[in-house]
Amino acid sequence: MDSSPTWNLDLLARTISAAGEVVYCWDIPSGQLEWSAGATDILGVADTDMPCLAAEMQLRIAPDDLPARAIALSQLLKDGTAYACEFKLRRSDGGFEWIDERGNVELDAEGTPVRFYGLMRVVTAWKTRENELERLAYFDELTGHLNRACLRGALDDVLTGCREEDASAAYLLVNIDRLSMLNDAYGFDIADAVITDIGKRVEDCSRFGDIVGRVGGNQFGLVLTDATELKLRKAAKEVLSSTRQREVNTAAGPLAVTLSMGGVLLPNDAASSREAMGRAEEALSIAKQQGRDRFVLHRASLNRDSARRKSLATGDAVMRAMKDGRLTFAVQPIVEGLTGETMLYECLLRMLNENGDLVPAGLFIPVIEKLGLIRRLDIFTLELALLEMEEIKDVNLAVNISGMTATDPASLDQLLSLVHMHTGVADRLIFEITETVAMMDFEETARFAEKLRDLGCRIALDDFGAGYTSYRHLKSLAVDIVKIDGQFVKDLHKNKENQLFVQTLLDLAEGFGAEVVGECVETHEEAQALRDRGVKYLQGYHFGAPTLERPWSAPSLHMVPTV
Ligand code: C2E
Ligand code: CA
Ligand code: CA
Repeated sequence: MDSSPTWNLDLLARTISAAGEVVYCWDIPSGQLEWSAGATDILGVADTDMPCLAAEMQLRIAPDDLPARAIALSQLLKDGTAYACEFKLRRSDGGFEWIDERGNVELDAEGTPVRFYGLMRVVTAWKTRENELERLAYFDELTGHLNRACLRGALDDVLTGCREEDASAAYLLVNIDRLSMLNDAYGFDIADAVITDIGKRVEDCSRFGDIVGRVGGNQFGLVLTDATELKLRKAAKEVLSSTRQREVNTAAGPLAVTLSMGGVLLPNDAASSREAMGRAEEALSIAKQQGRDRFVLHRASLNRDSARRKSLATGDAVMRAMKDGRLTFAVQPIVEGLTGETMLYECLLRMLNENGDLVPAGLFIPVIEKLGLIRRLDIFTLELALLEMEEIKDVNLAVNISGMTATDPASLDQLLSLVHMHTGVADRLIFEITETVAMMDFEETARFAEKLRDLGCRIALDDFGAGYTSYRHLKSLAVDIVKIDGQFVKDLHKNKENQLFVQTLLDLAEGFGAEVVGECVETHEEAQALRDRGVKYLQGYHFGAPTLERPWSAPSLHMVPTV
């Protein structure tokens, strides 16, 4: 290097400039600044704006960064602590560049600082990325709310606070109903707009100190600090009415969105954030089962014990009814939309209580499923149906089979041999399985469908659209009939969203090559709206409620097979 005569100050300045850096010298007594070549370009500050004095330099630095820089500089001057500082420097066009500044000071013989030599590097791109990454680690990219991990942390803090101060709080889980349907019908942008809007509404319903986070694709969590059950219910009511009263405005027009919510009281009903989130989810799933657009509060274990006792009692009652011949099924016609001709009947289980009340399936099947008794019950109902079909030669019957039965290989063998044993029934028999179940254990359900179809039976996908899972997957499940869930049929003639959903479901059904049934048709208008869209088969109170009367013979309560 020593042989290089050109290695002079000018070359040094140019090298520094080429590296995107700026050096300057600050003459401390006079306050004068002297800049290296190229400084104006690198910093984005015009020649005329370039600070000549240290005081002018202060004016270019973002005010919120000034104190930290002043402290770092004074420490360098006081005891020689290495100087390094980051700050935003105002460009001539009004924008800012992030600067990483380092430097050192020259002292005179008395030890008084006379000069400061500084080196500045523009680190805007790196800094922006760093900020973004930091933001992403805590916040949801779409809505700007806290993300799930962060909200969980906040929940833990609140729980600790509750314990220390003997206070109470609550956690509210807000679910945007049918978001995936909106996604498919209108596209991601519109669904994103709905999510963002709902996030704002949840935020608007929160009070000072409450914390909002996005905890799932279609879910927000609201941590209510210092909250009682009354406050939680009030907040839930407010969030519910925010969508009941006002539609969400999107580029596709105003959309009616409903919310389902689950809540839990802290710290009484959940000891950790994980528990709180889990229990709120449990309550949410009950809200969904009860028809959505509502709030359900998680009940403490005391209530759960009593619920469990009630379940067991229901289980006992159903098993007794099965033995006593008080279980039968009602039949409901499924008609051809255009001719009104009945094509088949769906068998819907009914229990005749000991006190003579007739109990519909909806009130005991879920309990029987939870207790693990559904396989026995399904075999029993199939036997009932088969006996009736053997007797009445030209009736087509559809039976409901629980997912637990459809995905259980031993039960499948039993079902297959039962159908085998009754000659001349297979091609008049339809098995209804629900879409959510089909998706839960796809392989087994596909096997179930395939084996029964091999025997000549038909498979119907029940509650189509309600689970709304991956249709790419469903496509490979061979089904003969899809039954559009009743929620999409409701007010079809005037409900714009339902019209879109039904259209989407019809397109998908066409893809499977399946016949379509519209369920829960209650009015003439709904029936007409379905016919207009090409739905071939219709079922619902409008065409006939489920009844114990047989259109072909007397009520069949006496027909009880041995189990
Ligand atoms: P699902 O298969 O979707 O049956 C339709 C339900 O809607 C039935 O309730 C029926 O009575 C009712 N329904 C029929 N038409 C209308 C209408 O126009 N409007 C309204 N709002 N409702 C209508 P149900 O009988 O209480 O059955 C409830 C669920 O229980 C059934 O839903 C099915 O999943 C299950 N289930 C019924 N029977 C059996 C059975 O034998 N085995 C099994 N595993 N499940 C069954
Ligand atoms: Ca059904
Ligand atoms: Ca159904």
